[in-house]
Amino acid sequence: MMTMVMLLLTAGVCGWVIYPLLRSSGAESAEADVPLHELSHELIRLGRSLEELRFDLETDRLSAEEYARLAAELERRREGLLSRLVEKGKADAAHDKGPARRCPSCGKKVSRSDRFCSACGTALR
Ligand SMILES: [Zn+2]
Repeated sequence: MMTMVMLLLTAGVCGWVIYPLLRSSGAESAEADVPLHELSHELIRLGRSLEELRFDLETDRLSAEEYARLAAELERRREGLLSRLVEKGKADAAHDKGPARRCPSCGKKVSRSDRFCSACGTALR
């Protein structure tokens, strides 16, 4: 009897900790454009959750099946996040390409972030 209560309590606590995490991700995927730093924060949070899950497993607070199920869910979300990060990176890179920028003075190719031409030293805007 006591073991049963303990089990239920443990499951309840685990659910209480993990449920908001799972829920928040569902809401988040509905958003079209999440800022990059939000994505990386979420990635870090997922990593922590995975560590906590592993800890719960090692301390017998979580059964192997529960752990496998929850870890798979977290991994799945992490992969989704990673691919979104990659997509975002690609989009940003594409945005940065555009037509080549040239020095107005000597015509040498310069990068968008350059403030001065590397060939003739003309200030770029
Ligand atoms: Zn120049």
